[in-house]
Amino acid sequence: MSKRTALVTGASRGIGRACAHALATSGYRVVLAARSADKLEEAASSLRENGAETFVVAIDLADSESIAAGITKAAKEFGRIDILVNNAGVTKDGLAVRMKKVDWDTVLQTNLSGSFFAIQQVLPGMMRERWGRIVNISSVVAEMGNPGQANYVASKAGLIGLTKSLAHELGSRNITVNAVAPGFIGTDMTHGLSDELKQKMIDQTPLKRMGTPEDIAAAVRFLVSDEAAFITGHVLDVNGGIHM
Ligand code: NAP
Repeated sequence: MSKRTALVTGASRGIGRACAHALATSGYRVVLAARSADKLEEAASSLRENGAETFVVAIDLADSESIAAGITKAAKEFGRIDILVNNAGVTKDGLAVRMKKVDWDTVLQTNLSGSFFAIQQVLPGMMRERWGRIVNISSVVAEMGNPGQANYVASKAGLIGLTKSLAHELGSRNITVNAVAPGFIGTDMTHGLSDELKQKMIDQTPLKRMGTPEDIAAAVRFLVSDEAAFITGHVLDVNGGIHM
């Protein structure tokens, strides 16, 4: 059997970069997608140094035409996409009463609509092969709610609904659809939070630390593996126990 190809969105840094690394070192061919081609190239070249087969594609997840063009290009390079990790995400926090329309739209378009349109692009190939793995990166806040993040939480809760609906639709084609819900993870996304808030989150976490991108990548690697063949429609919490 030829190597399987995984496409990871938001692969230039943080959790996505760790997912790309985990999948490349497990023998998958990896397509790295995000907006900044330069940053993707840098991530990909460190994988190639270790012998991985990679391809870089600049995609703006907030733009359905960019998604279609980018994924078509990647599928041409590697034949087809067997695994999709919808990881790219953004926050534009603010209280609902003052939230600007552009901040609502950007977050929903990138996190939720972008994931859906990426799935639509890879589905025909997966259906033909009667094999596929889709993992959507949600968040613990989708399960708990969070003040000041109505847009982000709605997008991440939407991903859980999308995951379950598609698991129903695609199971008969041997395509699994799961979500991972990370807790508080040390990346650029959380870098700007105050030390006080970070300590508060750590204190509330039974495992008494922030998660690492590698903690999330390990869960993704499992869900896309053959060992996870009978798991679909599941939301896997990787949150140090902050929400059970
Ligand atoms: P990050 O360090 O901010 O990285 C975000 C990635 O997404 C980057 O590669 C970025 O690259 C890409 N991206 C952003 N907007 C994009 C767009 N419009 N089109 C294409 N790519 C885009 O974030 P992270 O912490 O690794 O988070 C990864 C995922 O985990 C996100 O979905 C996030 O919501 C989720 N999550 C994170 C945490 C946490 O504590 N860190 C917790 C729960 C869930 P470009 O800027 O070059 O496009």
